[in-house]
Parts: sequence; C-alpha cells; structure tokens
Amino acid sequence: MKDFAGAPADLRAVLMDVADVAVDYDAEFGSRTTYRVGGRCTAMITCSTLAALSAVLDRVGSRPIYVLGNGSNTLVSDRGWDGIVLVLSGEFEQIDVAGNRVTLGAAVSLPVAARQLAAVGLGGMEWAVGIPGTVGGAVKMNAGGHGSETGKWLSEARVFRYHGHGYELRSLSADDLGMRYRSSNIGDRDIVALASFDLVPADRADSKKAISDIVNWRRDNQPGGQNAGSVFVNPDNDHAARLIESIGLKGFKYKSAEVSQKHANFIQATPGGSADEVFDLIWLVQQRVESELGIRLRTEVRLVGFDPDRSSHLRGG
Ligand SMILES: Cc1cc2nc3c(=O)[nH]c(=O)nc-3n(C[C@H](O)[C@H](O)[C@H](O)COP(=O)(O)OP(=O)(O)OC[C@H]3O[C@@H](n4cnc5c(N)ncnc54)[C@H](O)[C@@H]3O)c2cc1C
Repeated sequence: MKDFAGAPADLRAVLMDVADVAVDYDAEFGSRTTYRVGGRCTAMITCSTLAALSAVLDRVGSRPIYVLGNGSNTLVSDRGWDGIVLVLSGEFEQIDVAGNRVTLGAAVSLPVAARQLAAVGLGGMEWAVGIPGTVGGAVKMNAGGHGSETGKWLSEARVFRYHGHGYELRSLSADDLGMRYRSSNIGDRDIVALASFDLVPADRADSKKAISDIVNWRRDNQPGGQNAGSVFVNPDNDHAARLIESIGLKGFKYKSAEVSQKHANFIQATPGGSADEVFDLIWLVQQRVESELGIRLRTEVRLVGFDPDRSSHLRGG
C-alpha cells in the first residue's frame, strides 16, 4: 500500500488557517467506504460549514478531489489515491422542514431522513430507508428503489462547481440536474451542498409500516457484510443479477472477493481482504457476461485509483 505522508507541504500551508475544517493527511480512505477495503488518500478534508467549504475550494488549486458521502457506492484501490477527499459534516447534516418542502444537507444520512420525515407526517422518501448513503451521493447517483428515486422528489440543489481555480455556487433546478437512471448531471467537480425536496402529507402510521416493510425486504433479499450494493446498473429490460446468475457466477469466489450467494449483483469483500481483488472480480464478471451473453454490463459503483483504462471500460467508456 502506498503512503502519501510526505506529499503536500504547499497544501498544509494554504489550509493552515481555515476555520471549521479538519485536515487529515495521508488519511485512510478505503476503510471509510462500505467495502471497508482499499488504501489511503493524500488528504481528507472535513468541512463543517458552507464558508469552510468555499475557503477550501478557493485554496486547493487544481488538485483532484473526490467528495465522499457514506462511501456506499465507492471502491478505492489498495494502493490508494493521490488526491483530496472532501467530507461534509456539521451544517451539512441539517434537516429543515417548511410545509411540504424539505431541505436536506448533503451529509444527511438517507435512512435518518426517511425516518425523520415519516415521523413528521411527510411521505415520499420512505424508500430511502434501505439505502445506506447520504443525500449528496443520492443526488449524484439518482439513488432509488422500491418504485421510487431521488429525482422523483427533488426540486433543486445548491451545488459548488469547482473548476480548479475557485468555484461557482449555483442553484440547480430538477431540469438542470438531469436526473436519470442511476445518474445525473452532477459531475466529478461538483459538490452538492443542499438539496430540496417537495414531499406530500402522509399518515405517520402508513409511512412507518412502509419503512418497516422495506427494512424487512432488504434483510431477506440482500446480503450484509462488505459491499456497495449493486455493482452494475441494470441493462435495458433486464437485470444484471439475472444475467450474472444465468452464467453460473452466483457465489463465485475469486481470492478474497465473492459474488454474493444471496444477490448476484452484489460483490462482497472480506475482512482483511483486497480492493484490487474485488476490482478483478468485477472485471471478470463483466468479461464473462459479455463473452457468453453479448451484453456489456456497466458499473454503478465508483472506482477510485484503479487502472484508468480498465476502469473506463468497466464504466462503459
Ligand atoms: C447494502 C447497500 C444497498 C444499496 N442499495 C441501493 C439501492 O437500492 N438503490 C440505489 O440507488 N443505491 C443503492 N446502494 C448504493 C448507494 O448506497 C447509493 O448510490 C448512495 O446514494 C451513495 O451515497 P453515498 O453517500 O454513500 O455515496 P459515496 O459512495 O460516498 O459516493 C458516490 C458518488 O457520489 C459522489 N458524492 C457523494 N457525496 C457527494 C456530494 N455531496 N456532492 C457531489 N457528489 C457527491 C461521490 O463523489 C461519488 O461519485 C446500496 C449500497 C449498499 C451498500
């Protein structure tokens, strides 16, 4: 595993006096994802106010950044990543309710939001209880399930667009955000700060029941352990899990990684295992599905620090 301990004297200098920011150099990155494998990053910068985030973006220059939510759709290579990981906390964890309009900070946990909104009699976000990500990650990925998705309820988002020498802060409408199946117009240099949702009045008991049904369904149908949910997006009119299972790869093991026995589109890591072996198994599954069924699956999971050519191929490039 690479370390980045000696790297950024200039970075230390520019970040020294920024308020409401915690900087951890040569920080653990892979262990902050739900895969819980993978290496370190040059710096992990946690911003707890909008002002702090603005100041950081003004100062970090053209260095690559990765915004980390809960890491539930992220796989980091064993050698780590030479870049800045941005984490949001504090002000970004607020939930504000005004009538049917709810404004959620990007760092709000989806299951927490689902339960709190149900408890105040607002319906629409119950599905989010089963998705272990943050609001920022959900906007970028248009996360969804159980017949609903982020884009169905989202009305606008406040987004920092970072261009390597500062940023612009914009309010983007649902149209601007271009929400589509497991994707949106939020690019790799955009940081979602807040998102507003227009929900509907709902009976608290009905929402509570819907939430409990979803939690039970997830327990019965999806594996626990170290994974990032579905690895591949579903191709048109089919399911990646069905395709993988149809060629006998359900339960297939490759070194420390395994195609889940319970859900063939989940690929599991193991404690003390290797992110590169997870990546190699994702590669193997994509290759086998393509050679045997003529369908090229594309990854949903974000791949950080791996070979760029293979990563781009996996993402459908
Ligand atoms: C057990 C399990 C079940 C899952 N089930 C589902 C499901 O049913 N449906 C579904 O859609 N997904 C599912 N997922 C995947 C994942 O939870 C979602 O994609 C989630 O929205 C990712 O949020 P995150 O905060 O963890 O994102 P991360 O993994 O931290 O990041 C994912 C991407 O979003 C970007 N990002 C994160 N925060 C921000 C921000 N503030 N601004 C800009 N970009 C940001 C990252 O840079 C990265 O590109 C599941 C995952 C697990 C582990």
